[in-house]
Amino acid sequence: MRIIVKAIFAIASAAAFSACVPKKETAENFKYTVDQFADIKVMRYRVPGWESLSLKQKEYAYHLAEAAKYGRDITWDQYCRWNLPVRHLLENIIENYKGDRKSEDYKNFEIYAKRVFFSNGVHHHYAEDKILPACPKEYFSSLMEAVGASEEALLDFIYDPSAYPQRRSTSTQGDIVALSAVNFYDNVDRKMVDDFYAAMTDPSDPEPVSYGLNSKLVRDSSGVHELVWKADGLYGSAISKICEELAKAQEVAENEIQKRAIGYLIDFYRTGDLRLWDRFNVEWVKDTVGQVDFINGFIEDYDDPLGRKATWEGYVDIKDSAASARTEILSSNAQWFEDNSPVDPRFKKAHVKGVSARVVNAVALGGSCYPSTPIGINLPNADWIRKEHGSKSVTIANITHAYDKAAEEAPKSMLTEFAWDQNEIDAYKKYGDYDDEVHTDLHECLGHGSGQLLPGVSSTALGEYQSALEEARADLFGLYFIADPKMVELGIMKDPEAYKPEYASYIRNGLFTQFVRVELGRQNTEAHMQNRKLIAEWCYEHGAASKVIEKKIREGKTYFVVNDYEALRGLFGQLLAEIQRIKSEGDYASGKALIEKYAVDIDPALHKEVRERYEALNLKPYGGFINPDIVPVVKDGKTVDYEIVYRDDYLGQMLEYGKKYKTL
Ligand code: ZN
Repeated sequence: MRIIVKAIFAIASAAAFSACVPKKETAENFKYTVDQFADIKVMRYRVPGWESLSLKQKEYAYHLAEAAKYGRDITWDQYCRWNLPVRHLLENIIENYKGDRKSEDYKNFEIYAKRVFFSNGVHHHYAEDKILPACPKEYFSSLMEAVGASEEALLDFIYDPSAYPQRRSTSTQGDIVALSAVNFYDNVDRKMVDDFYAAMTDPSDPEPVSYGLNSKLVRDSSGVHELVWKADGLYGSAISKICEELAKAQEVAENEIQKRAIGYLIDFYRTGDLRLWDRFNVEWVKDTVGQVDFINGFIEDYDDPLGRKATWEGYVDIKDSAASARTEILSSNAQWFEDNSPVDPRFKKAHVKGVSARVVNAVALGGSCYPSTPIGINLPNADWIRKEHGSKSVTIANITHAYDKAAEEAPKSMLTEFAWDQNEIDAYKKYGDYDDEVHTDLHECLGHGSGQLLPGVSSTALGEYQSALEEARADLFGLYFIADPKMVELGIMKDPEAYKPEYASYIRNGLFTQFVRVELGRQNTEAHMQNRKLIAEWCYEHGAASKVIEKKIREGKTYFVVNDYEALRGLFGQLLAEIQRIKSEGDYASGKALIEKYAVDIDPALHKEVRERYEALNLKPYGGFINPDIVPVVKDGKTVDYEIVYRDDYLGQMLEYGKKYKTL
């Protein structure tokens, strides 16, 4: 499973974009945005913590990163069988065309190429519909002629909106297998697929195999059968390169669990045996001590209209020591927080254990994680493994950080548009992103685990209001404690004022800005968004008499301003106590009343205003990343180090990967 929240809410402006990178780059002046076109912003990410890895750990990460990049062509071919020929044509033109590159037509050609590179194919990476070039077909044809390319059928395919209009069809009419561009099936319809796998499945197997995950299903003169993606099967040349790199990584792995896990993964790739894939995942889940971790394989099935075939992806990360140190401090002080929380003592746990969330930094993105990438991952997907052996959940700090920083690089952002004054903007720039991380830590490490149910109360007593109320409880726990002097004492918050931007932005978002994501006329239905609205509205109303939160209008625009931070903290504490009571007592009626009164209905005038102001910002809704290079430093024939080199050329990396990692 992937967490992709940020990916559809990337924030920046095209207006003042410049690809200039400061001469001497540090963490402070690092330029995050490297390219913008169509509805896309391409960024890069830093890799904090790389320097503190040992040479051996760097070597391990290096080979895993190579393995993540060698699968690129698999993903392209899986998305549509025309994708690789189209990409090779685009690469040929960009590299060899000698004519005018300043013309409007060429610029449109280049935007098309960039969009296709970004989506790993001719379909939009998120909307999944076919991307068409904005330059005329005759012009495209002249580019082909100029570089000696003569594939007429390819040109026709590129310009034909009816040829594979969608990557994954969600049509309710016709056969979704035949209507989808994805290359998972050939000459079969939905019923043949269902029958084929129904015959394979053993319903009594306690460890059910994910049949179909790693193969294409085809029908020819010998009937319906699978072409398995394995070293001596379909995609064999790519899989062999992946295995070579995995074998090198295995030699320098950090521990025995990693070695065993990689061994199973290589055997799986060689044989295609899905039981070995499960063996790999069981070992992979166990490795929670290594500094370096990875994902590599046929994993997510979102792209298959039937949810069976998995798209190839690769990904490498290292543990974020600073963030992990923070979650360990919180976790080891869990009892203090429980004892000092503002809820009724009857609802507190006598013995509470915090959890240390795993926070990582990405080192390499590959396959379907590149360039568009998730900000969190929770794997493996097989239910029986999750139940028997658990799962690993990580948040990817440097990707989230890059999104935040890239948003600040724009002169007009959500922040500058919706914050009341420069003080609020400056304070957010100083502490906002960090506060956000700490709030998430408190929410995840302590909030959800705090409190207890009274004897006899069912954990499902709150029914359909359970998730929104539970998220509200965890959020309130975080909001209440982020302002506590204890946080400064623990060294997590830098000074007693540092929590304020979190309060201001939480209220602004909960009352107002989050509704840019809801279509006009609709209600607020998503659990996290309901939770934020509930908290912000409740505090707005309960603090109204003394204007704790004030609604202000300037030049026809609405703003929500926090006037009294301490009073707001008090309100957070009160609401936390009430929601804890509702949960502990299983008070369904009160929970329902809270959600219905505060969380569901959006003021139509405010809703319209926020959507209009957001649209006027003209922000790029989608974001993605290029990778830094990991470069071996060789002295006297020996590799003495691996250096991270930050690249800033999106198209350059696309062309380079097209050559270096060409396997199909
Ligand atoms: Zn939560």
